[in-house]
Amino acid sequence: MKQLFKFFLLLAIGIALFSRCEQDHPSIPDPDDQIPKEVVIPNDFLSGENYDRLIVEIASVQGFEPTGEALNNLKAFLESRLNKNGGIDLVAASIPSPGEAVYSLDDIKKIEQDNRKLFPDPEDKKLTAWFFFADADYAENEGDSKVLGIAYGPTSMVIFEKTIREISGDRGQPSTPVLETTVTEHEFGHILGLVNNGTKMVANHQDITHGKHCNNEDCLMYWAAEHSGPLINFLTGGKIPLLDQNCLNDLKNNGGK
Ligand SMILES: [Zn+2]
Ligand SMILES: [Zn+2]
Repeated sequence: MKQLFKFFLLLAIGIALFSRCEQDHPSIPDPDDQIPKEVVIPNDFLSGENYDRLIVEIASVQGFEPTGEALNNLKAFLESRLNKNGGIDLVAASIPSPGEAVYSLDDIKKIEQDNRKLFPDPEDKKLTAWFFFADADYAENEGDSKVLGIAYGPTSMVIFEKTIREISGDRGQPSTPVLETTVTEHEFGHILGLVNNGTKMVANHQDITHGKHCNNEDCLMYWAAEHSGPLINFLTGGKIPLLDQNCLNDLKNNGGK
């Protein structure tokens, strides 16, 4: 239990660090970067103004696909928050293992460059997002603490599916769909600009010590201290944490539902 909590904690650290990195270095041009540089901001996801349709591309290493239950949950989560009258669709594909023992952030970006097929198309008002479900751990893990997911670009996320499976599904652990859902929704929360990560706060509820996270321990966007807490109880109880009122208010105020 305590172990699992540590993992979740590190997920949060990972996100916080990378959110900060991106803000510190917003636009370092890379001529070899094949990913289009149209600047997508959280409002593009939340409102229907620039984009009225969203396609989420899910690329998984063969054998490390997320459960259908988690994908259904993610779709419902997005539909409940985003103004996308043209619809929200998830497109899943499996790719061969890149064959790495661990993945660095550079590896992950390279995998996206080599495999991503769908990109935002402003003319067609079609927005896209990318998930990579990895078959190995994050390279920056230290000791027994492991990162479960990272939102590393305006439309880009990685989920460490192998790591998730190792800490879910057994007695005393959360179910795999519950953990997958929690991590994918949490990462997408950062893409939507939470907390103070591109979506302005209506009321101050940022846990600044822990980066771009919410100060409510019951919230999906919470960063928890390193001791047993309510978040893990939710997970083992089969309940996926929801966004609290402050986070919901921020999304609504920035064009969301
Ligand atoms: Zn986070
Ligand atoms: Zn919150």
